Amino acid sequence: MQYDHILVRFGEISTKGRNRKQFVDRLKKNIQQVLEEFEALTYSSTRDRIYIQLNGEAFEPIGTKLKRVFGIQSFSLAVRCKSDLDVIKESALKTIQEYAAEGNTFKVSARRADKNFPVPADQLNREVGAHILKNTEGITVNVRQPDYDVRIEVREEAAFITTKDELGAGGLPAGASGKAMLMLSGGFDSPVAGYLALKRGAEIEAVHFFSPPYTSERAKQKVLDLAKQLTPYCGQMLVHIVPFTKIQELIHKQVPENYSMTSTRRMMLKITDQIREKRNGLAIVTGESLGQVASQTLQSMQAINEVTQTPVLRPLITTDKLEIMEMARQIDTHDISIRPYEDCCTIFTPAAPKTKPKLEKVERFESFVDFDTLITEAVNSMETIKITNKDTFEDPMISSLF
Ligand code: ATP
Ligand code: MG
Repeated sequence: MQYDHILVRFGEISTKGRNRKQFVDRLKKNIQQVLEEFEALTYSSTRDRIYIQLNGEAFEPIGTKLKRVFGIQSFSLAVRCKSDLDVIKESALKTIQEYAAEGNTFKVSARRADKNFPVPADQLNREVGAHILKNTEGITVNVRQPDYDVRIEVREEAAFITTKDELGAGGLPAGASGKAMLMLSGGFDSPVAGYLALKRGAEIEAVHFFSPPYTSERAKQKVLDLAKQLTPYCGQMLVHIVPFTKIQELIHKQVPENYSMTSTRRMMLKITDQIREKRNGLAIVTGESLGQVASQTLQSMQAINEVTQTPVLRPLITTDKLEIMEMARQIDTHDISIRPYEDCCTIFTPAAPKTKPKLEKVERFESFVDFDTLITEAVNSMETIKITNKDTFEDPMISSLF
């Protein structure tokens, strides 16, 4: 086969001016991590492209994984050849001869990134096009909707020829925007919120509260499985599992039932914020959606959010449940979230939680006991699990595209 590289194009990164190098380095690192299992691959980059040399690896499984890496606008199989007019003409011809069939159409779109290359793009288009027409049969030019868009990028070190583009996931490279803590429950919403935060370049560490023996090992496993579903987008993820039983029991004992939800959320947020500080995070991400449940009214959010100054990002704040479920299906978290295991919040769910809790009241209820000691204890006894993206997964939809 002719193709020996994958050429990766960036989206928004290109507009980031001074930060560009940092962005490219981060994207390259993320790609390398996601493609870790393909050991023969080698990587290089310029200010606006990343090149992956295949060294004999098959494209399909790599392409499937690349489709999920944020920060990529599009990518293509590419042939690398010498930046020389005759060599380019011959390589382009060979590529068409190998892949196009009689009746197919093509066009040539050259781009001269190396301005010292003696042939201007227009002329390159004409010369390469004529060369292909002269040496093939039954293949014609169609500039509007060609079967093959022979794109030629002429650079100083080499020229790259591609014929088909695959759409990337868009967004910004995970980690380029700094680190945030994702409050990850076993529900539908928080994994989707995590996905969206990753899409905008956040690096995510997950925090999960569990309350044995009220919640089971299987409930914990569910959360780890959800985190695993996010790793194709970020390579790997740390999940901090925080024991929450003692705090929940104390809330149950101390805080009137209709305020227990508000108090539970405040404790979770406080703990997450302490973990964030330890881990040098800059923000917290939740799966909250305005008005969805009692704890997600504006009054509740105000009473809960009051425990921290840290930005709390809520990517789903304006989305409906049905929209969230649809996204959950797209990122394959839906079928895990639907498993019936109990969450620590459902155990002590009050029959009628306050939808308009008063801050002074919840503060007073909490003031009679020493929650801070328990919070410190919870943070100190958390368990951290690293979830990686080692397993390959099949996606027939995507492999059929190539
Ligand atoms: P989800 O579908 O994410 O569980 P939800 O609609 O069920 O959300 P809540 O259960 O009220 O809403 O939770 C609101 C948010 O609080 C969640 O999206 C999540 O970010 C956080 N959260 C809830 N429970 C936990 C938990 N056990 N561990 C960590 N975070 C949690
Ligand atoms: Mg929930």
